[in-house]
Formats: sequence, structure tokens, C-alpha cells
Amino acid sequence: MNATVLAVMEQRGGAWNPMSFETLAAAQQLATELGGTATAVVLGRGIEAVAAELAGRQLAAVYAIEHDLLASYTPDGYALALEQLIAQVKPRVVLFPHTYQVRDFMPKLATRLGKAAVSDAIALRVAEGGQLVAVRQLFQGKVNADLRFTGDGPHFASLQAGAYRAERVAEGSAPVEKFVPVIEGPQVRTRPLELFRSGERVVDLGAAEIIVSVGRGIQEAGNIPLVEQLAAALGAELAASRPICDAGWLPMERQVGSSGQTVAPKLYLAVGISGAIQHLVGMKGSRTVVAINKDPNAPIFEVADYGIVGDLFQVVPELTEAIKKAK
Ligand SMILES: Cc1cc2nc3c(=O)[nH]c(=O)nc-3n(C[C@H](O)[C@H](O)[C@H](O)COP(=O)(O)OP(=O)(O)OC[C@H]3O[C@@H](n4cnc5c(N)ncnc54)[C@H](O)[C@@H]3O)c2cc1C
Repeated sequence: MNATVLAVMEQRGGAWNPMSFETLAAAQQLATELGGTATAVVLGRGIEAVAAELAGRQLAAVYAIEHDLLASYTPDGYALALEQLIAQVKPRVVLFPHTYQVRDFMPKLATRLGKAAVSDAIALRVAEGGQLVAVRQLFQGKVNADLRFTGDGPHFASLQAGAYRAERVAEGSAPVEKFVPVIEGPQVRTRPLELFRSGERVVDLGAAEIIVSVGRGIQEAGNIPLVEQLAAALGAELAASRPICDAGWLPMERQVGSSGQTVAPKLYLAVGISGAIQHLVGMKGSRTVVAINKDPNAPIFEVADYGIVGDLFQVVPELTEAIKKAK
């Protein structure tokens, strides 16, 4: 069958990267706009359970690409397998979540097929004449550029965290089709070793539902426990603006922004953060933003849904107590 939009889902060891479902929502929405069908693909070994989970979504088909050489991610294995599936289902558009893995292999896959790929897109739309347009941020978020795909598909695009809402994925039922690609051992030129994290503290800000983020308003390292207590009361991950991580008050992996992580939690609480553009590009996809800042003109209030103008040393302890009481 010819699919209109193919969403490439990411799983590891049977656990989804949650951004995959944002991509699925985008695929469904775009397929409707194009008057076509949405499909999804998952790759790996022993992926029956995750494929079965996808079968409960409104899709024309779920493709389960099974192969021993796909047990662990490799750019060669993934590019070879997807190239073969794409040759069979002939999608017009192939969408990916903009994960580290996708950054690694999507350009390779698009290049193999001689097609264009737009990475880290924040929106997709269909222009007059039916051409696909991807919106991408330039100059650290200061400018949005419309990029129009020309020529025949498949067109490739990866989507920024938070650009689409995972909860908008429509439920339904879809047939699961197993697809066994032809991959020979020597074609996979790397052997993955054990996964490890470079930081001692394990944190996945991209998956966090609530984030308490702290900025230079906190004044010194000794005051960090104040926001740690607020994060603990909310069950939130702690994050920071760049000066906090540069100073070593929190580890680099907790930095949000253009040179840190892009996050899209349900709630982002910015404490003593001014809202510089390099910070905003990393968090403006958050569903609800609450800002605490003593300067009523701080730019963070321009993206905040709720603003508390006040001294964080007074507001944060009171807020922490109120949350504990409410629980
Ligand atoms: C190439 C490049 C890349 C960068 N990448 C990043 C990035 O990834 N992430 C990032 O965050 N930044 C990044 N920056 C830095 C960015 O430009 C800002 O300098 C930085 O975000 C400012 O951090 P801040 O808001 O914590 O500090 P400030 O701008 O100093 O703001 C502190 C805020 O705290 C408020 N405040 C002070 N005291 C109190 C109090 N008692 N109660 C309440 N509020 C108070 C002040 O009103 C102020 O608004 C980058 C810069 C460059 C040039």
C-alpha cells in the first residue's frame, strides 16, 4: 500500500521514547490535511508488545521491522531497514522525533535516497498547491523560516520536542504488518557496546512532566536547596539556566536552552530566570509556564502563563509549604 505519512517511532528495550507519540500526533494531523493515511513503524528485536500497543491507534498500518541486527540501534542497520520499508510503502512524508538517535541516522537515510531532510522542525503545514512546508527556527529562535519541499517525496522531517501534543493521538485500530529487512552482518559496520551515561546523576529532562528551573536570581550555590525543596514537593526534575551550570552549581546535563536541552513538560516553573532568547528556545514548548521574578519587565513574563512578581527568597519557601499542605 502507499502510505501518505510514515511516523518512525523510537523504542529501546520495549520502552518508548515519549517524543514518538508527538510524532504520531503530527503524522495523523498531516495525513488528514493531505487527505491521506497515517502509518507508523517501529524497529528492533522482540517488538511484538510495542507494535501491539501501536495497533490501538488510528493508523492505516503499523509496520514492525524485526531483525536480529536491529536488537541495538546502529545507524547502518536502521538506515538499511527503513530504506527497504520506504521502497515498499512509498510514503510521501516520513516524520521522526528529533532525538539524539534520529539526529544520527536521519540525514544518512535521506542522503541514501537522495532526498531532503529538515531537522528540528516546530511545525508542518500544507501550502497552496499541496506542497509540504516545514517551519524551522534560525538564529537561536529569533527567526522562523518556512522551508518548502520540492520534487517527489519521500520528504523527511524531525520534530522538536513539544512541537506536537502526544495526547492528541487519535485512538483506533490498525493492522500490524511484520517486515523482515535483508541485512547482512558486514553491512552493519559498528558494534554497539554497553550504554552508559557520562554524568553520574541520571536525568532525562526531555521526559519530565514537571520541571523547576533555577537562574542567576538564586545568587549563590548555597541557596540551591531552596529550589530543590520546591522540586521535591512538586515531584519535579530540577533544571537551570546556563550561568548556574557554568558556575558548577548544577551539572551541565540540567541546562535548558540553545546550548542545553530542549524540554516540553506539562509545567515549567522558572525561578529567578530573566528569559534570554537562548533560554526560551529550550523551554517555550512547555504546556504551562510559571515565572517567579522580582523584575516585572523580565522577558520571561512574555512567555509565562502565570507570573509571580516577587522576591524568590520569600515566594519559593511559601509556595513549597503550600504545595506540601495541599498534598
Ligand atoms: C551562544 C550562547 C548560548 C547560550 N546558551 C544558553 C542556554 O542554553 N541556556 C541558557 O539558559 N542560557 C544560555 N545562554 C546565556 C543567555 O544569554 C543568558 O545569559 C542566560 O540565560 C541568563 O541566565 P539567567 O536568566 O539565569 O540570569 P540573568 O539574566 O542574570 O537573570 C536573573 C534573573 O533573576 C531575577 N532575580 C534576581 N534576584 C531575584 C530574586 N531575589 N527573586 C526573584 N528574581 C530575582 C532578575 O530580575 C533576573 O531577571 C547562551 C548565551 C550564548 C551567547
